[in-house]
Amino acid sequence: MTQAQANTKPLTQFQSKSLANNFSASNTIGKQGAWSHSAVATLFNLPLNQLIWQAQKTHRAYFPDGDIELATLVSIKTGGCPEDCGYCPQAARYQTGVEATKLMTLEAVLAAAQAAKAAGSNRFCMGAAWREPKDRDIEKVVAMIRGVKALGLETCATLGMLEPEQAKALSEAGLDFYNHNLDTSEDFYSEVIQTRVYQDRLDTIDHVRAAGMSVCCGGIVGMGESREQRVAFLTRLANLSPYPESVPINHLVPVAGTPLEAQVALDPLEFVRTIAVARITMPSARVRLSAGRQELGRAVQAMCFMAGANSIFYGEQLLTTSNPEAEYDRALLADLGLQVKESYKAEVVI
Ligand code: SF4
Repeated sequence: MTQAQANTKPLTQFQSKSLANNFSASNTIGKQGAWSHSAVATLFNLPLNQLIWQAQKTHRAYFPDGDIELATLVSIKTGGCPEDCGYCPQAARYQTGVEATKLMTLEAVLAAAQAAKAAGSNRFCMGAAWREPKDRDIEKVVAMIRGVKALGLETCATLGMLEPEQAKALSEAGLDFYNHNLDTSEDFYSEVIQTRVYQDRLDTIDHVRAAGMSVCCGGIVGMGESREQRVAFLTRLANLSPYPESVPINHLVPVAGTPLEAQVALDPLEFVRTIAVARITMPSARVRLSAGRQELGRAVQAMCFMAGANSIFYGEQLLTTSNPEAEYDRALLADLGLQVKESYKAEVVI
């Protein structure tokens, strides 16, 4: 039985503000369900303190207090992508100064994984700037997955759209997670990307589930979408059946040369709200602070952890946008009294 088949129970919903107010996180453990747009909008509209309180209750019902997952993302093939994602400096059509590289060698990937492990990462994510991998690419990535798994790290890959057989090959190699973001709401998607459609994303996620892998799926906020569109985006994510095990929420980093280079920054408190709603609607997911974390600063990151974020991209590489360095992250986590995920604690000095 696939994971998708095993988790299809109806979800608990917040149908009204009063229900949301009375929410007890423990009553949804192990359940999945259908969130209505209005229920998610109700959460977004709660007074901030109340929203964070709800998110904290949910968080503590599902995870040990203060437990943080550290993930390292390495770009195994950078730039030269034929797609037109409006936020992405790796798209070949934009003049961003990102130079296209060839696929990293197996040896180089394993050296990076070893370094990530030594620095305390729990999960090693490999990203390639492809629209979709060719079968010969899959063979090379399979060898990388086997090598990284042998080091004792969780593995994740983000390689673009997958065919069912490709997903199966990655799963058989031991890939734990596949990342494929919905990016935003369906009705805003074409404002940002024209070279593929929303259904393409959903199809790949289905293939990943059918192959038995866990799903890492989130998006980017602050691309000019409305609050309603953020509500629609999270509603869609929460209604995936099952919802993703990992939910990376990126804060747009406008990159010179991309269509979104002049995008006005989202209010940081709206970002915090987004994190809190993700936590409540997908209670057992790892909600990850991803790109744009550096720009948020320490105080907003701390609020995000209060709102239920419990995973960060860690270290110096985050595809092509800068990420706070490992020492800075360790200092922040230590100041907040947060600790890395228990199973890897022994290997990490904070
Ligand atoms: S986000 Fe991915 S698919 Fe889109 S342009 Fe960048 S590398 Fe290509």
